[in-house]
Amino acid sequence: MNNKMYFENKKIWIAGHNGMVGRALVRNFVKHEKLEIITAPSSELDLRDKSKVEEFVRKNSPDIVIIAAARVGGIHANDTYPVDFIQDNISIAQNIMKSCHHNDVDKIINLGSSCIYPKFAEQPIEEDSLLSGKLETTNQWYAIAKITAVKLCQAYNKQFNRSYVSVLPSNLYGPYDNFNLETSHVMPALMRKAHEAKENSSPSLSVWGSGKPLREFLHVDDLAEAIEKILISFEGEVINVGSNDELSIMDLSNIIKDVVGFKGDIIFDSSKPDGTPRKKLDNSQLESLGWSPKIDLKTGIKNVYDWFLNTEDKRF
Ligand code: GDP
Repeated sequence: MNNKMYFENKKIWIAGHNGMVGRALVRNFVKHEKLEIITAPSSELDLRDKSKVEEFVRKNSPDIVIIAAARVGGIHANDTYPVDFIQDNISIAQNIMKSCHHNDVDKIINLGSSCIYPKFAEQPIEEDSLLSGKLETTNQWYAIAKITAVKLCQAYNKQFNRSYVSVLPSNLYGPYDNFNLETSHVMPALMRKAHEAKENSSPSLSVWGSGKPLREFLHVDDLAEAIEKILISFEGEVINVGSNDELSIMDLSNIIKDVVGFKGDIIFDSSKPDGTPRKKLDNSQLESLGWSPKIDLKTGIKNVYDWFLNTEDKRF
């Protein structure tokens, strides 16, 4: 089926439409004129409230639901708010899936992350590696909740023949990322630090850890396109979405420094954790659908830095 027909006269609920991923999904799906996009601000719909979610799904009766709402954060946030990371993420997944099943929603995309795989999973990481080893301790809280969500999707498929699919992307970045240095991921953190170091003519930029860990970065607009492809043509239950753009944190720091135009030194702060040494995804399933990303890393970083310079609406 072609893209246009698949989305014709359907309703898609993007849960978490105000976040970085949710906004990219809205930007992507508006191109389908006959697809109705449903959203609800968190001030009106607390996804941790079971009865509110049930009422919302019943009233709106979506055909497709994307769970892009989650409590997310970088290495420090995960380590600092473990209860919130477990409880909020399990509640969100459970409430949405239960209400969707009650209201006969057959298609859900449950978004997770590459960080739910075991810390020392064989690389590149195949979808089958899930639960094959110990988790990275710094993000085990988020991981355990999201693994539960993946299993819940599989359980609905097994018991009720649903088509609930879990999408596991590599490290994401894009406009509307979180730039708060305590809770952010590495990309926005380094962009902000490099920008402020340049503005203040500081001699150096501090990068956490050894700079040696490897990460695979994916622009959220590429993720949104991949999800569209997955909705139309993927028939399995769990799929990785990576860019194959893998590099060390040290190399990333240098690219960001270059894009921002900061001329000082990079200093590695070994008192901060490195986290997982590497988490390169195996993207074979995705590639077999005939999809590949369009935004290379340097172009993507320039795009986000332009956005950073030109928007007032930043999360600090
Ligand atoms: P992770 O991929 O789940 O480990 O999440 P992060 O994006 O938070 O961290 C990725 C890597 O970047 C880790 O090795 C961090 O130690 C490193 N890193 C370097 N500088 C920073 C920083 O300022 N903030 C964050 N969050 N990570 C940093």
